[in-house]
Amino acid sequence: MTGHFIPDKLPTHIQHYIDGEHVDSAGGESFDVLDPVSDGNYATAAAGQKADVDRAVDAATQAFKNGPWPHLKPRERARILNKIADAIEDREDRLAELETFDTGLPITQARGQAQRAAENFRFFADLVVAQVDDAMKVPGAQLNYVNRKPIGVAGLITPWNTPFMLESWKLAPALAAGCTVVLKPAEFTPLSASLWAGIFEEAGLPQGVFNLVNGLGEDAGDALVKHPGVPLISFTGETTTGQTIFANAAASLKGLSMELGGKSPCVIFADADLDTAIDSALFGVFSLNGERCTAGSRILVERSIYEEFCEKYAARARNIVVGDPHDPRTEVGALVHPEHYAKVMRYVEIGKSEGRLLAGGGRPAGLDTGNYVAPTVFADVGPDARIFQEEIFGPVVAITPFENDAEALALANGVKYGLAAYVWTSDLARAHTFAQSLEAGMVWLNSHNVRDLRTPFGGVKASGLGHEGGYRSIDFYTDQQAVHITLGTVHTPRFGAS
Ligand code: NAD
Repeated sequence: MTGHFIPDKLPTHIQHYIDGEHVDSAGGESFDVLDPVSDGNYATAAAGQKADVDRAVDAATQAFKNGPWPHLKPRERARILNKIADAIEDREDRLAELETFDTGLPITQARGQAQRAAENFRFFADLVVAQVDDAMKVPGAQLNYVNRKPIGVAGLITPWNTPFMLESWKLAPALAAGCTVVLKPAEFTPLSASLWAGIFEEAGLPQGVFNLVNGLGEDAGDALVKHPGVPLISFTGETTTGQTIFANAAASLKGLSMELGGKSPCVIFADADLDTAIDSALFGVFSLNGERCTAGSRILVERSIYEEFCEKYAARARNIVVGDPHDPRTEVGALVHPEHYAKVMRYVEIGKSEGRLLAGGGRPAGLDTGNYVAPTVFADVGPDARIFQEEIFGPVVAITPFENDAEALALANGVKYGLAAYVWTSDLARAHTFAQSLEAGMVWLNSHNVRDLRTPFGGVKASGLGHEGGYRSIDFYTDQQAVHITLGTVHTPRFGAS
């Protein structure tokens, strides 16, 4: 495609990284990788099969059982984690251009992802150094303490939206905890993950601690989930995939952490600061091309400000700059893949019979190729509509009016998902009361999604299982063994003594 930006030195083939070596699949299998602007294949990637996952798990097991990593002092591990963060920051430009090329995310937003990825490593480095575990005393009788131990080989399975950052969100705590890992990145977007090997080598991570197997979910992902030598799976992706993984992990009783889909409400009361709420409600669904698990993709607006809100919101949506992801002026880029583009476009068509189209509704004018969708706004969407109930994962938003707090709450909670929620009001008591009744793992009051890394992250209902974030992530990747010591005399019933 003319004028299409192509990063320098783009690889034409992407390999696995197993036991410190870049390798292909044992059987030579590969798959095509395309970029979302030309929709042409720019590379092939090794397609991992069970045999390749077995090799990666063997390497990670050796590194766990016989290598230094699980036994290093927290400060020593932290030193390497900080070097990893430095190496990510050094690659910020390269990382951003590769991520943008492979995912279609606007370059300015891809840059933020690199910074966040580095921060994830610094944060968990600090956390393990500061970590204290419980000791409990029964005076004169017993002392109990927690002996925290890394669990073993962690299987990490990640999606294609903000791929590098979401990989870092799992890699950093798993490594900080002393686990070794096998990462299976999303098959749509393997490019930025190919930077990890160099980053870890430069930082001095011991060989075999980090392993990466590319491939399809049903092959490489499935083999990792079913591998008896992998006691933990941290998964981020669609709810239906999470259900399959949950069933497949049952045979080996794995620890599971699941970050799944969302259909999060953004509730705007009449007493809100309307202009600020509009800024955030736009950013909340159209940033990251709308391919965002925590997107506020259902906007609920109090009736008395409804028409004014719809009008102002739609005018701004129509004005959003859609275009070349590498152009710093672009606000919405290209969706990740033609399959996903087709899915989002199907919802746009469905929406036309379920709501009043205020903005967008198809391909933006002047962008005849590439996976571009104009920011699309539907108003008057009822709670039974598919575009109200189902995750679209693109730049499409449904607006629904409400009369009072009770109706707003029923609408907000009336979907199967429960990941995030956003509430806009200047009434402090209402904000807190409402937040506490929301069925959502995370609530932002008068804010879009700005997250302190210490807070719990995760969804309820169909949006997830378990919470990560801060020490919760370390808890997932470690066993807390309880050690009990008797002080003084042991009082044991004397069986067979009479
Ligand atoms: P997906 O479920 O299709 O794929 C995610 C990963 O799972 C990929 O690596 C894929 O190869 C793998 N996979 C697929 N089938 C598998 C199987 N049978 N066994 C093992 N692994 C398998 O999800 P996606 O389309 O890549 O990502 C988008 C979804 O992710 C959306 O639903 C979004 O909401 C969700 N998401 C959630 C969060 C969160 O934190 N809750 C964050 C980002 C994305």
